[in-house]
Amino acid sequence: MSFVMRALEPQAQDLAQTAAQLPACGPEWRVLIVDSDPDVHAAFRLALEGRSLFGRPLVFLYARSATQARNLLRRERDLAVIVLDAVTHGAGAGLDLVDFIRYTAGLRNSRIVLRTGRPGQEPDLDTLLRYDINDCRAKTELTPDRLLAIVVTAVRSYAQLCAIEGNRRSLELMVRSSASLLEETNLHAFARGVITQLASLLGVAGEGLVCTQGTHLTEPLRVLAAMGSFAPLAGQPMAAALASHGLRLLRQALKTRRNLYGAQRGVALYIGRGDEQDMAVFIDAPVSHGTPDRQLLEVFCANLRTLLHNRGLLERLHQSAYYDPLVNLPNRAHFVEKVDECVWRGTHGHVLALVDIDDFSATNDVMGHRFGDRLLEAMARRLAGALPAGVLLARVGTDTFGILGPATAVKLTQLLDCARQPLTVDGVPHKVSLTCGYVHLPHRRQAGTDLVKDATIALQRAKRSHRGQLLEYSEQMGMEARDRAMLLSDLRAAIGGPQLFLVYQPQVDLESHALVGLEALLRWRRHDGSFVAPDRFIPVAEHSGLIVPLGQWVLATACRTMRELLDAGKAPPRMAVNVSTVQLQDPGFVQTVSHALSAHGLQGGQLELEITESVAVLPTRLLQSALAALRAMGVTIAIDDFGTGYSSLSYLERLPLDRIKIDRSFVRQLGESQEARIAEMVAQLGRKLGLRVLAEGIEDASTWQALRAMGCQEGQGYHIARPMEQHALQHWLALREADGAMQAHPLQGTA
Ligand code: C2E
Ligand code: CA
Ligand code: CA
Repeated sequence: MSFVMRALEPQAQDLAQTAAQLPACGPEWRVLIVDSDPDVHAAFRLALEGRSLFGRPLVFLYARSATQARNLLRRERDLAVIVLDAVTHGAGAGLDLVDFIRYTAGLRNSRIVLRTGRPGQEPDLDTLLRYDINDCRAKTELTPDRLLAIVVTAVRSYAQLCAIEGNRRSLELMVRSSASLLEETNLHAFARGVITQLASLLGVAGEGLVCTQGTHLTEPLRVLAAMGSFAPLAGQPMAAALASHGLRLLRQALKTRRNLYGAQRGVALYIGRGDEQDMAVFIDAPVSHGTPDRQLLEVFCANLRTLLHNRGLLERLHQSAYYDPLVNLPNRAHFVEKVDECVWRGTHGHVLALVDIDDFSATNDVMGHRFGDRLLEAMARRLAGALPAGVLLARVGTDTFGILGPATAVKLTQLLDCARQPLTVDGVPHKVSLTCGYVHLPHRRQAGTDLVKDATIALQRAKRSHRGQLLEYSEQMGMEARDRAMLLSDLRAAIGGPQLFLVYQPQVDLESHALVGLEALLRWRRHDGSFVAPDRFIPVAEHSGLIVPLGQWVLATACRTMRELLDAGKAPPRMAVNVSTVQLQDPGFVQTVSHALSAHGLQGGQLELEITESVAVLPTRLLQSALAALRAMGVTIAIDDFGTGYSSLSYLERLPLDRIKIDRSFVRQLGESQEARIAEMVAQLGRKLGLRVLAEGIEDASTWQALRAMGCQEGQGYHIARPMEQHALQHWLALREADGAMQAHPLQGTA
């Protein structure tokens, strides 16, 4: 034996390596001799029995008849060589058995050697090829030396065929396992998948573990997943695993970043850095045989590394899709998904609340975005601290937080109170108030987005009329919100068209009856001729921001009318235009005004802007600088609806104003002592502050006289004139001129 091995050495070493990597080959070479001639059996027994080839023993099986052979072939899967007597059975019968081997028993890799009667009796080439017959030998050629050479050649060829088949199967497995590993969403499941897939590639049960090293080398290695006898190590630090299992190979693989194979057992593959983590897998499998081609394992590893990297990318994508990095909380998408889950699971007694920071955008504008960001972070921490475990807190809008949890656990009143203590931002205490809209999750199934919308409706309502408080959503609110939404979309469509136009209401001096100004008022007449009241559509426009372009149009149109009146020589001293707080907040507002004036060749003093007391919500600095810039142009400022709003007197004192308008609600009921007192007080206040006072809503002569007696200098109202379209106004002005009258002329306009 030894001489043969020496003679065959280079190939044999190759083969030893190949053979060691065959999943399909068993631990021995099985050779089947089918021959009726006992001499042939004896020849093989004498020459080869008890010998080894390439480190594996040769084991012989003998059959004397075709029947015996068939029975054996039905049982044996791993036959390296079959030596078949084609003499006794006749070439035809011999070929029947070959057909049986290849097609019935399905042994494609076994090497077949035909034993013929004498040289030259081989079957034709076609048959040799069809049945993949390795060799044909006459009995005379079966000398011990030749037998060995015949068997070595056949075994080597068998081993190579098995290797090719094994690699093909491994590749198939790899492709399939890549697909299933990529689907794993969490890292632990991925790691378990790696063990299972690699074990099946190695043809062993899932006995192994995956370990990782954290971002820093100082972080200890830990076992990410473990299966089979290693299972108890899952989640443990590697030190424990090393102590109990002596996993030197694994540690070495991580250290050297290479794949390592144990002398007898164990495969440790270095998968690489996925998402900043080193990862390696160890599988307890015998290495001597049954291990696939190492190059294939390298490919498997490279593939895993790519998967791990892609997983990292996917995870980061997932993170950025569902997380808000600023406040370190889940975002709206995550929140909505959780609400969905809650509804679909049929969870009872849950509440969905939206908590909003009051006046955040103003704070952001005045204090800067960096401050705004810190404020949000501090608020997020405050809210998180005030909520019990098991309640979801998310950031669902710029300054809006979403809360989802059992109604018994979410104490909303207490939650709003958590902001009573000022937040410390950049070391400075900052006072905030919170407003909340909420909804109880319904029993019927409803999409998460719809429920968030309901809570938003409640929140918006609360922001309008219950600031700093809680408001629960109701069906009624939903209907109104839908109406508003429809109104808004109609208004959008109406902008720029003839449905929207201005009317003008004269303002007069109550003493001299002289015309002192006109107030421009917006009208919306629908196609069917019906009017939508400004009190209805203006708040909708304000809320949607539509008031900014709409207000620009109003300003430009009023200025154009003023120009036309000036050109006709009929203009009063000023044109008053209503400006909402939202417009004042627009950074381009002062520019818009100056542009409207210059476009129509007007002096600043020919324009008055009516602002309401609700400007008190604006930061003083912003408001003061806007008003100062306007007054620098000569534009006068009137405070509208005085007495109905927040009016803090000190606030009024600080603002650069020219006129106070007494709200018509006080003027209308002037006969009632309370209202009369208010009107009188406003008039006195105006005098004290050095401001002119104008009363609106004068509907009769006695009111006129009463207001005059109180010291109110100017007025407007149906008794003087209704708001009129431009052509009616021109008519009214012409009449007044013709009369030369100092009397007021009640005239029907488009009120
Ligand atoms: P406002 O600025 O207080 O306007 C005066 C309102 O009183 C007008 O209602 C006017 O038609 C009405 N009025 C005038 N005289 C009398 C009277 O003798 N008796 C009664 N009962 N009412 C009288 P209007 O036009 O319906 O406007 C309502 C509100 O809509 C306005 O109140 C103003 O706040 C807002 N608004 C109107 N046009 C505009 C606009 O162009 N821009 C902005 N931002 N708001 C506007
Ligand atoms: Ca007004
Ligand atoms: Ca008013």
